[in-house]
Amino acid sequence: MSQYPSLHMIIDGEKISGGGRRSFEVVNPATGETIGALPLAEPADLDRALEVAAEGFRIWRKSTPQQRAKVLNGAAQLMLERQEDLARVATMEQGKPLAESRIEVLMNVNLFQFYAGEVFRIYGRELVRPTGMRSTVRHEPVGVVAAFSPWNFPLGNPGRKLGAPIAAGCSVIMKSAEETPASALGVLQCLLDAGLPKQVAQAVFGVPDEVSTHLLSSPVVRKLSFTGSTVIGKHLAKLAADNMLRTTMELGGHGPVLVFDDVDVDRVLDTAVAGKYRNSGQVCVSPTRFIVQEGVFEKFRDGFAERAKAWKVGNGLEDGTQMGPMANPRRPDAMERLIGNAREKGAKLDAGGERVGNQGFYYAPSVLSQVPMDAEIMHEEPFGPVALINPYASEEAMIAEANRLPYGLAAYAWTDDVKRQRRLADEIESGMIGINSHMIGGADSPFGGVKWSGHGAEDGPEGLLACMVTKAVHEG
Ligand code: NAD
Repeated sequence: MSQYPSLHMIIDGEKISGGGRRSFEVVNPATGETIGALPLAEPADLDRALEVAAEGFRIWRKSTPQQRAKVLNGAAQLMLERQEDLARVATMEQGKPLAESRIEVLMNVNLFQFYAGEVFRIYGRELVRPTGMRSTVRHEPVGVVAAFSPWNFPLGNPGRKLGAPIAAGCSVIMKSAEETPASALGVLQCLLDAGLPKQVAQAVFGVPDEVSTHLLSSPVVRKLSFTGSTVIGKHLAKLAADNMLRTTMELGGHGPVLVFDDVDVDRVLDTAVAGKYRNSGQVCVSPTRFIVQEGVFEKFRDGFAERAKAWKVGNGLEDGTQMGPMANPRRPDAMERLIGNAREKGAKLDAGGERVGNQGFYYAPSVLSQVPMDAEIMHEEPFGPVALINPYASEEAMIAEANRLPYGLAAYAWTDDVKRQRRLADEIESGMIGINSHMIGGADSPFGGVKWSGHGAEDGPEGLLACMVTKAVHEG
């Protein structure tokens, strides 16, 4: 498929568009051109989605593990078969290099296959009671899940929002980002084509606050699953509290990376630079604050800047592109503001610091060093292709800097000292830590943060349990 598909919502298996609804222009961030018109939900559409989802839950909560596994495995197989089409669409609407979009498809395949196995391991407990009495604890699906996912992983985020609830026996109303709708629709279509009953998963789009206010105030919805910024996450958590909803919140981060004197600097740089510029830095677990011990600071900063300048920026559909455009015009604007402010405060610009080309939303791979603490970028998640590199004298100071912010999503540390590795794992406040590695996720591993980075986890058995409630049954 080289063309961008036509867009719609999916309610009760029906593709809904037109009908005088408002629409949203989907833009290719590599060119700035409009590539699609997305219909936006009216209140009546949301009411219909709620009604169908309630029916979907009545159906799916009674499904057997075999039925759920069959749908999840079937959808995984279809995603593999459709990998190239899905990846191209994701790159057209989000901008990332095709290779990264293909990896997103594989992340979904792994997750769906993992949950297809995990559905057989939803165990309960039997409690010790006197003869003649029986007490059991069981896990039941929580109910209808309202799932809101952002644009940075156009395929992976919807995969997470759908996979665990469907494995648990819930139904879902998904509102993925209006900027990347075709990818989300492609993932949902694989589930429907694999035999998911049409009532079980709905895809709506709309004015975000209209949709969330409408859905979260409905008695039909029992859980909110949100990925996005901390500001919006706090707003939605308040709405969810009014209806006492369960919540899984995957929010912002400001990833610290501790680099100690004992490392092979070039080896660390090979991984760290690729990690930083992946998806133009628009990743919640992106490495951001490089907290470097003094002995290797200059070598690390200069090596980072040299690699950043050589990083190949271009259209994600073209071979050899290492970094695509940013996803929307808000991001290069934010880069200009944050980097400009840091330089005014005295930070040194070692690479980048400017837009690239005269079309699309490109911003150069950037490096700032000696960034003062009063620069906004040392507090606010940059969500862009900029590394902040500062020198520190001691391990104690480095850990203090890692824990300074209210965020705690992903942290990374590089050191060959085994005892120090353990201390870091103990002391750093973060939901995920990579030690001598930037790989911090996996279908079988919980993905989530602490502090302002949110609560609850996706992926792993934890992500499945987050879609379930317990019931204790006591029989006399
Ligand atoms: P934003 O905070 O307005 O939106 C983030 C996401 O939340 C979008 O997908 C948006 O559609 C959704 N959203 C916004 N308001 C909503 C509402 N009331 N109800 C439901 N969903 C809502 O801003 P943005 O410009 O899209 O992104 C800016 C910041 O968001 C970034 O700087 C980054 O910090 C954060 N972000 C985080 C992630 C993540 O993976 N944690 C992903 C995307 C964006």
